[in-house]
Amino acid sequence: PTFKSLGLIDPLLEAVEQLNYKTPTDIQVEALPHALEGRDIIGVASTGSGKTAAFALPILQKLWEEPKGLFACVLAPTRELAYQISQQFEALGSAIGVRCAVLVGGMDRISQSIALGKRPHIIIATPGRLEDHLENTKGFSLRGLKFLVLDEADRLLDMDFGPVIDKILKVIPKERTTYLYSATMTTKVAKLQRASLSNPVRVEV
Ligand code: AMP
Repeated sequence: PTFKSLGLIDPLLEAVEQLNYKTPTDIQVEALPHALEGRDIIGVASTGSGKTAAFALPILQKLWEEPKGLFACVLAPTRELAYQISQQFEALGSAIGVRCAVLVGGMDRISQSIALGKRPHIIIATPGRLEDHLENTKGFSLRGLKFLVLDEADRLLDMDFGPVIDKILKVIPKERTTYLYSATMTTKVAKLQRASLSNPVRVEV
């Protein structure tokens, strides 16, 4: 399969070409058609598989089709991973004008609040700092959210972010699309999956 045969729109086909992605990776081949149909996805895949583009591309495609307000929130276990995810969204979505904000612990809260004020489409966050902004940044909420991504869910739970994620799940729309990616499928991940996804397709590489 090619990115075109998987159903990507032209601006995203141009972006993957510019990034020199010649063919889709296995996880992208498995996940993209279901994601573009609007399904929730459980992806069992680790770093290096191309999982970030597997969730970023369908989100960017929907953003192109209906560019309205805050669009997606990606939860990641570490600051470094959050910045890497943001870089991929920006590289893949530059042609469609995507705006990202990264909210992670250990970095300046005020500049993050300013970034939120610029009405980003995509928020990439570690859970604790996202909760902090939900409580303390005036005018910020996740009410209009269309997509939630739980990336490296096993690590999120190993780092005891479970209770914070449960709180975040309570303040985001029930009507949304959710992608959960994890290198391993543990009992804890299965429980989070049941709490956050609806009728998901499971893809595995
Ligand atoms: P990830 O597993 O999402 O951390 O991605 C690992 C690396 O593979 C990243 O540097 C991506 O830019 C790159 N990548 C993702 N998809 C493709 C692809 N289809 N072809 C070549 N490289 C890719």
